[in-house]
Amino acid sequence: MSTQNPIPQDTASDWQLPWTGGCRCGQVRLRITAPPLLAMACHCTGCQRMSASAFSLSLAIPTPGFEVVSGEPVIGGLHGDSHHFFCPHCKSWMFTRTEGMDEFVNLRPTMLDRHEWVVPFAETWTDEKLPWATTPAKHSFGKLPEFAAFPALIQAYAEQGARPAKA
Ligand SMILES: [Zn+2]
Ligand SMILES: [Zn+2]
Repeated sequence: MSTQNPIPQDTASDWQLPWTGGCRCGQVRLRITAPPLLAMACHCTGCQRMSASAFSLSLAIPTPGFEVVSGEPVIGGLHGDSHHFFCPHCKSWMFTRTEGMDEFVNLRPTMLDRHEWVVPFAETWTDEKLPWATTPAKHSFGKLPEFAAFPALIQAYAEQGARPAKA
């Protein structure tokens, strides 16, 4: 018999940490040791171009819990305040660091060796989305949410966000 726990604990075991991941060719490898803050889909036309798809996926990982363990990612994309990092060999778009938001790294969750559990919790820039593109995100924003909206989103994701299945 198992007892139901309505509010999952933000522990390493709850999230099945650590996680490993890498680019398509394997030159760049990653290790994640901290629970994600938020899972998002972005429908903006910039993400459409860079992902070569309908939207990008992000997992916001606290910076101390994000490590490049092999390879030397290079900056691509806009070369502006958002530093989009790519594998230098296979050119996979792997993660983004944004100046002024140094507390977290936006990891593209499809880099993770196990990522089937990732479900976007919030989606942004639906004003620019392809008409047929839908996600199961519980919170939708036409553009970006107000900065003040993030603490509540992060709290809700900590309580309700999809987790990896227990091994
Ligand atoms: Zn690569
Ligand atoms: Zn975007």
